[in-house]
Amino acid sequence: MKAFESTRLYFERAADRLELAESLRKLLLTPKREVQVQIPVEMDDGRLETFIGYRVQHDDSRGPMKGGLRYHHEVDLDEVRSLATLMTWKTAVVDIPYGGAKGGIAIDPKKVSVKELERITRKFIDQIHDIIGPHKDIPAPDMGTSAREMAWIRNQWEKYHGFGPACITGKPVEDYGALGREEATGRGVGVLAYKLLGNLSRKPQNTRVALQGFGNVGSHAAKYLYESEYKIVAVGDHTGSFYSPTGLDIPKMLRYALANKGSLLGFSEAERIGHDELLELNVDLLIPAALGGVITKQNAAKIKAPLIIEAANAPIDPEADDLLHQRGCIILPDILANAGGVTVSYFEWVQNLQFYKWSLNRIRQELEAVLTYAFEAVWQEAKLHNVSLRTAAYMIAIRRVQRATELGGMG
Ligand code: GLU
Repeated sequence: MKAFESTRLYFERAADRLELAESLRKLLLTPKREVQVQIPVEMDDGRLETFIGYRVQHDDSRGPMKGGLRYHHEVDLDEVRSLATLMTWKTAVVDIPYGGAKGGIAIDPKKVSVKELERITRKFIDQIHDIIGPHKDIPAPDMGTSAREMAWIRNQWEKYHGFGPACITGKPVEDYGALGREEATGRGVGVLAYKLLGNLSRKPQNTRVALQGFGNVGSHAAKYLYESEYKIVAVGDHTGSFYSPTGLDIPKMLRYALANKGSLLGFSEAERIGHDELLELNVDLLIPAALGGVITKQNAAKIKAPLIIEAANAPIDPEADDLLHQRGCIILPDILANAGGVTVSYFEWVQNLQFYKWSLNRIRQELEAVLTYAFEAVWQEAKLHNVSLRTAAYMIAIRRVQRATELGGMG
């Protein structure tokens, strides 16, 4: 199923419950602005190469639009549109004062040099600098991008608009970035896993976890869960998956990945299993923390975990979601599960606007407070209306966006 179709279906389910008028549905499903740009760049060997960049701004009724920039060869308008709408619901469900946006470039960043990547990034910003900014739309890292690209983007944006570090988040810590931004999404997943288990009267020590993805999100989630004494029995990235029934040595794997450009390629100190096998293991908690669309109607029947936390964006197709839900599987949806990243982005933006630096302790405490509050609200909403956690999260988010839209008026 195409990405935007999936998010539309999740939206419609909650909209049905809310008895949302057709006119409002149409408004909330239509992005405010979609931009596709040509990025012609001279490569290191003198050749001219043309890339395509996107920025979809979905909704700004609750504040400036917010969302990451993805560099991946499969990026296209449909995917970016879907991810932009997810950002609107994500910022609304954790109640931070933003709308939703997303962008990206169709590129495999590993296949170009650092100099080429910098030129591509700067050229992209040349095309979109006018529609982004601290009070318009604030990009951030996503798959394939990190603090390095954010620093280039800030520098390029400031050439047009003057000093304004709040034009982008996820910057290097020594360059107006926030302490704890890099770990935030993974840490948030860990914090929410703890809340979810607590509400189900389960203990981390008795919880076997399989984690798909060992990038920025997966590795920080693994670290947090390991330190909280969960038994992580399987971990994998795109280069390989590993299994140990007694629990993997996560600190060793983290050290290995750190010394190996972030990848587990060549790791040999645990049993190797197939990528599909990892998803289908008989564990208590499954955490997809990599690409979208990994659990579909094709493999849903084989998923045995009774709990799933969507650390990735859109890892489960709606048809698979139905099958899992019918089977009693509890799924903590992406718009809440991975909201830790954008929440600390918000803290970074606030610090930039106020020229005041928060301590790591304060960031972690406030992150936990925001996520705990949102989690409890979603849990209660699900109980009250007898719906899944996903539908409950969408209901809360849609209600907030609807209210802001109506308060602003249509004039
Ligand atoms: N790319 C992240 C996400 O999907 C973070 C976005 C942000 O910090 O604005 O939530």
